[in-house]
Formats: sequence, C-alpha cells, structure tokens
Amino acid sequence: MKRIAVDMDEVLADALSEHLTRYNRDHGELITKAQLHGKWLWDVVSADRHERLEGYLRSEDFFEDLPVLADSQEVLQKLSEHYEIFIATAAMEFPNSFGPKYRWLRRHFPFIPPTNYVFCGDKSILLADYLIDDTFRHFERFRGKGILFTAPHNAEITGVHRVAGWREIEKFFLPVGRA
Ligand SMILES: [Mg+2]
Repeated sequence: MKRIAVDMDEVLADALSEHLTRYNRDHGELITKAQLHGKWLWDVVSADRHERLEGYLRSEDFFEDLPVLADSQEVLQKLSEHYEIFIATAAMEFPNSFGPKYRWLRRHFPFIPPTNYVFCGDKSILLADYLIDDTFRHFERFRGKGILFTAPHNAEITGVHRVAGWREIEKFFLPVGRA
C-alpha cells in the first residue's frame, strides 16, 4: 500500500477562517480570504499587530473547534481503503494545539487511528509516497511527491502539482474504476 501524509491546517481544518474571525472581531476589520491572494495574513496586518496574530494561535482553544474543509472526511475515508494515511502536522510552534488537534482528529476523522498521527516539526523526516500540504516549503526536502493544496497564501506558486480541493484529490488518487 502506498502511503499518503496529509497536513491538517488549511488541508483538513479551516484554521484561516477562525484566525480571520478572531482578528476581525477584535480589531473592527473585515479582512476576507479573497484579500489574501498570494499573501499570508501577516502580510496584510500591520507589524504592530503581529504579536496579536501569533497570540490567537497560541491560545488554548484556537484549534479546538475549527471547521472541517469540504469533502475531506468522505474522500479521506475512501482513500484510507486503498492507501495508508498519516496525518502530519507541524504542531511544534504551538504546543497548546496538541490536545485540541488530537481531539479534533478523533472527532472528525475517527477512521484514522491515532497511531497514524504525526505531530512534528520539520516534515522532511516523513517517509511517505505523497504529502498533501498547503505550505510549499514542506516539499523542499520531502522525498516523495508533493501535492499543493490550494490556499490563498499559495495562489501564486507554480511548478508543483496543485489540487483545488478534496474532489480533485479523489480524482487523482482514485481514478474511475478504482474506487
Ligand atoms: Mg497547512
């Protein structure tokens, strides 16, 4: 069985929406995902507020109740019948996220056993055939094939296999006749 490593934030969990909701609420702004084309939230928020942006990610409850990205549950369940699935999240920057992320995965992806969770720092340690991730730098030293999951910040990146959502992942990994 081939092995697929799957990132969490912006691939399974919509952390960006939660980040925007909290930032906009506290600062009386209306920043949208559309405004983040090719940019990180840090690029559009003034430097004196960057510490606040970080603070949201460090808070105890930020990762507890994130929305699940469309079709990810159904497609990942299908993939898990044909591939070995690992969830790989670079969680070390925000240690408060460990518990919430673990509970979130148990709740929304109960068919993936916790033995297949990888809470890591540098993803180049992963040994998998594929890595589905929204952050391009994780592919730079990854030995398998990187699949870039479209997110506002990576909109301008070219020269990599890109998927715009879980239906495209389904088509790539489970061509008709195989599913
Ligand atoms: Mg991510």
